[in-house]
Amino acid sequence: MKKTKELEKKLKLIPKPVWDQLSARERKSALAFCKGYKSFLDASKTEREVVRNVVSLSQKKGFLETPSEASLRYLKTNRDKSVALVTVGTKPLTEGFRIVISHIDSPRLDLKQNPLYEDVDLTLLRTHYYGGIKKYQWVAIPLAIHGTIIKKDGTKLNLIIGENDKDPVFTICDLLPHLSHKIQDSKKLQDAIVGEKLTILAGSIPFPDEDAKERFKLNVLDLLNKRWGLVEEDFLSAEIEVVPAFKTRDIGFDESLIGGYGQDDRVCTYCTLQAILSLQEQPEWTSIALFLDKEEIGSDGNTGAKSTFLELVVSDLFRLTGQTPTSDALRQALFNSKAISADVNGAINPNYQDVHEKQNAAKVGYGVCLTKFTGSGGKYNANDATAEYVGEIRRLFNEKKVIWQMAELGKVDEGGGGTIAKYLAEYGMDMIDCGTALLGMHSPFEVASKMDVYETYKAYRAFYEG
Ligand code: MN
Ligand code: MN
Repeated sequence: MKKTKELEKKLKLIPKPVWDQLSARERKSALAFCKGYKSFLDASKTEREVVRNVVSLSQKKGFLETPSEASLRYLKTNRDKSVALVTVGTKPLTEGFRIVISHIDSPRLDLKQNPLYEDVDLTLLRTHYYGGIKKYQWVAIPLAIHGTIIKKDGTKLNLIIGENDKDPVFTICDLLPHLSHKIQDSKKLQDAIVGEKLTILAGSIPFPDEDAKERFKLNVLDLLNKRWGLVEEDFLSAEIEVVPAFKTRDIGFDESLIGGYGQDDRVCTYCTLQAILSLQEQPEWTSIALFLDKEEIGSDGNTGAKSTFLELVVSDLFRLTGQTPTSDALRQALFNSKAISADVNGAINPNYQDVHEKQNAAKVGYGVCLTKFTGSGGKYNANDATAEYVGEIRRLFNEKKVIWQMAELGKVDEGGGGTIAKYLAEYGMDMIDCGTALLGMHSPFEVASKMDVYETYKAYRAFYEG
């Protein structure tokens, strides 16, 4: 009997919860790390806010936008919506980099360009949702507005309403159950609330002059003008994002989990940021942390993974280190690089276990999640890491005592999804997905295990250190 047990231990893959594996001291570090993460999450509800916070935290650690040739820490932003951090290493650049890429945009509602109207004596704002949301999750919750508005004269106004406890919030009113039977309840879930009905309640006081037209709309415009000097045309040159107004909270009697908005993918963003900030002055490999926008809508556009931002960063590196960024050198450097696509995975939800094939699904509390391939239905649109690269990462994580699991997203024919991995793999670099497994992914209140968050940070740090 004893022999069989020993044999089992030697031969079988037996996953164990992180909680069982960490020492009391390590657990304490994990919990302290998550405290910082929660503050970051609350202060970073849009891609622009992530960029602002990444810049200010990295500047404190000596990352500079215009470094001297001797400086080893470089920071570059792209239109305030994506950002790269680089620590130059001792190896020649053409031997490649260690790159960790996360995305900093999250599913949300955007105001339409001409959003303001009134109806039945209420003032409302029209929206167009961004990314893969389940619309029913966005009604009847408190919402905050985070906007960047370019005024007529070109000045920029950053606006946040609904995050301070003294602020008002906004909401989308759902229909009462007494009257929803035909129009909502008997429909398919995805058809019950249509996009055009995601309108935000924004006021109910009429403009005092009873002769005025659209008095409710006018009153809000008057208020916006008096407070911020805005006119209706200013909405046309604005990006106003609507996000949940609640704060990140601990979950459970044991406070073991974190609930909050935007953990896809800001959990990986924060872990990557802390990993690169923790690196010594000059590591062996040049380390790059790339924080990109637009993943949730396909990585298109000049701030997403399909833009040439990374190439620009790399040619800067050649120049900063006194070398000529020839296209050949650039290609070699990127081709020889090793990368992690730092993105979340979906953990088994106890109520919907059937969508997963459990032997290959992520579990909350079992460590950072590696995903060899993404895509769906026959591995279409996948980045598929080579066995050699998976082997390399496996050895590294085991050596550095990173607790990890391997998972794919959902049953073979159930669905699936992609990340930015495939776009950057086009340069020829080795690429694998690696991140935290979430419950309630893409909902306004996503859930992560504190231990998994910490193991994600440990994984990225181990990767940079090599
Ligand atoms: Mn993601
Ligand atoms: Mn996502």
